[in-house]
Amino acid sequence: MVKTSEKFPGVEWIEGTGEFIKIDEDKCTGCANCVNVCLAGCFEIVDKKANIKTLEECMECASCWYICPEDAIQFSWPPGGTGYKSEWG
Ligand code: SF4
Ligand code: SF4
Repeated sequence: MVKTSEKFPGVEWIEGTGEFIKIDEDKCTGCANCVNVCLAGCFEIVDKKANIKTLEECMECASCWYICPEDAIQFSWPPGGTGYKSEWG
């Protein structure tokens, strides 16, 4: 199923993405960098640790992985044919 976005015109997500981002709780210090960098609002802080709220509108930009100072975020691409798609390619 395809989900379109009101927040990001021209963008859609194809279901079946799965959990392609994971947080290592042992490494996470709760600094909230990932919360602040993610335009899709995928993260929240719960009990001083990062938690993934949803990846439904993840744009696969990998900014969360890049900005985490503790190397606590594991990022891999979702399976082919699923996830983020835009009209620009
Ligand atoms: S950026 Fe890394 S260390 Fe900071 S809250 Fe997110 S996962 Fe935890
Ligand atoms: S890859 Fe980008 S859009 Fe997806 S959770 Fe990380 S920062 Fe947010």
